[in-house]
Amino acid sequence: MTTQGFDTEYDLIVAGSGASGKSAALTAAQAGLKVVIFEKMPETGGTSIYAEGTCAFESSEQKARGTPSNPKYHYPTKAEGYAKFNAYSHQRANVDVVRAFVDNSAETIDILKSLGAVYKDVRIAAHDDPNELWTFHLPEGLGAACQELLLSAVQKAGVDIFTSTPVRELITENGAVVGVVAHDAQGGDLMRVGGKAVILATGGLGNSPELVAKYTWFAASAHNMTVLTPLENVGDGLNMALAAGADDRNIVSAGLVAVCARNKAMDSHVGAAGLQPCVWVNKTARRFINEGIAENIGDIGPVLAKQPDGIVYGLLDEADIQRLIKEGSEISIGEFVVYGRPLTRLRLELDQDVQDGVAWKSDTIEGLAQAIGLEKAVLAQTTTEYNAACAAGHDPHYFKQTRYLRPLKQPPFYAISIAPGMMSSTGGLRTNGDMQVVNRDYQPIPGLYAVGLDAGGLYGDSYNMEIPGAANGFAYTSGRIAARHVVSVLKG
Ligand SMILES: Cc1cc2nc3c(=O)[nH]c(=O)nc-3n(C[C@H](O)[C@H](O)[C@H](O)COP(=O)(O)OP(=O)(O)OC[C@H]3O[C@@H](n4cnc5c(N)ncnc54)[C@H](O)[C@@H]3O)c2cc1C
Repeated sequence: MTTQGFDTEYDLIVAGSGASGKSAALTAAQAGLKVVIFEKMPETGGTSIYAEGTCAFESSEQKARGTPSNPKYHYPTKAEGYAKFNAYSHQRANVDVVRAFVDNSAETIDILKSLGAVYKDVRIAAHDDPNELWTFHLPEGLGAACQELLLSAVQKAGVDIFTSTPVRELITENGAVVGVVAHDAQGGDLMRVGGKAVILATGGLGNSPELVAKYTWFAASAHNMTVLTPLENVGDGLNMALAAGADDRNIVSAGLVAVCARNKAMDSHVGAAGLQPCVWVNKTARRFINEGIAENIGDIGPVLAKQPDGIVYGLLDEADIQRLIKEGSEISIGEFVVYGRPLTRLRLELDQDVQDGVAWKSDTIEGLAQAIGLEKAVLAQTTTEYNAACAAGHDPHYFKQTRYLRPLKQPPFYAISIAPGMMSSTGGLRTNGDMQVVNRDYQPIPGLYAVGLDAGGLYGDSYNMEIPGAANGFAYTSGRIAARHVVSVLKG
């Protein structure tokens, strides 16, 4: 035990071992600090192992390519990125955080390259979306490969890593954070660990429906979302920082809500079929949007999340199924479902889902309505009106693109339950541009930093898919920015 009653002491304590935590730990350890990572899960990596693309501006990869594969677009400048974050968030973004991110994002790509990452493409996440910036850097092996490279660099740099060891509490002294209480989940012991600085990198609160309901505008469907990861990102960093005096007014302003079929994996072909711009109805058996919005997965999530209970059905007929199997998906879900790639597993998966009662099939629309529990007469009216719109080549309700106007007429008819999917929460603690957590007076709490999904600043009320890869790029970059500040404070 040390003189201050700590079991052990470090220069820097990092809570969480995803992209942001490991990036912070590597930066600090390479600068000579004694660093420890505490990770709640038995394995390191967090949701970052699922990430595909990483956002950066004016990177060496963009410069080397010159122009995107679709020559009508261009790679964006830092200034364009800066402007878009601010405009998309309706000026709710924290300009210091935005500026720090856009200025330092390119370095993230170079660092990952120096660790061995190889970039196969830089593009947008959708197939063709004029609103998206071309910032999505796709490495070989995607996020999982980058996490392995980073882990081995962190280990080589001498960082101590304790898995199954969640940080439970911050220890404060005269308003400054001076350590943490960590819990050895295997041995059962509580450890008091001293730290000259603590970086919270616990991955937000996406897996806590209660906190999602409390802090985002998705309260109506928070308890009915498909949570895409079984990870422990339940708001620990946020709760600990609030207890230490962090500003409680700028909490999670956004939830990253993308889509998938209810309780299906993101690469499911049934999920992809339900998310096509086919016919979507909510619990009222009525359409509610131009389904062409499916072209951008960032936009669909919030639209589904605001339907009653977040319950939505994608309706297709046999002609749709055959076309998807042969000609492929009309939407992209990142690398999970690729535009134009035939959905070859669709028939097999769909038959199984119908058998299991999680998709529905009937020779009549009324039969389909009965199977899923919708009002028969209303669904019949909805499809009659829709088929009339297809015949006229004009959707009077929602101005759906003519190319997607295909009638529901060839039985059997299918219904697939599609759901808002919670990938990660975004936004969170208010920080300054050095990622120091601030109090209500915007004064830094000495010794406390928040990074990655624990930090707010880039977003307004929803995740900005028009800058694809922002969450992941920000995780790496904000971790490094925080660690550099710790180094500058400790080393002068
Ligand atoms: C399926 C999927 C696909 C995605 N694809 C993309 C993409 O292509 N591009 C993109 O930008 N973003 C994507 N994301 C979002 C991704 O989560 C972020 O990009 C980013 O990598 C998150 O990094 P992080 O370090 O903030 O959090 P994480 O990587 O989630 O790391 C947080 C870690 O903290 C640990 N932890 C939690 N509580 C504690 C505690 N009390 N003590 C210690 N440890 C704790 C968790 O177990 C976890 O390991 C995707 C997410 C999912 C789920």
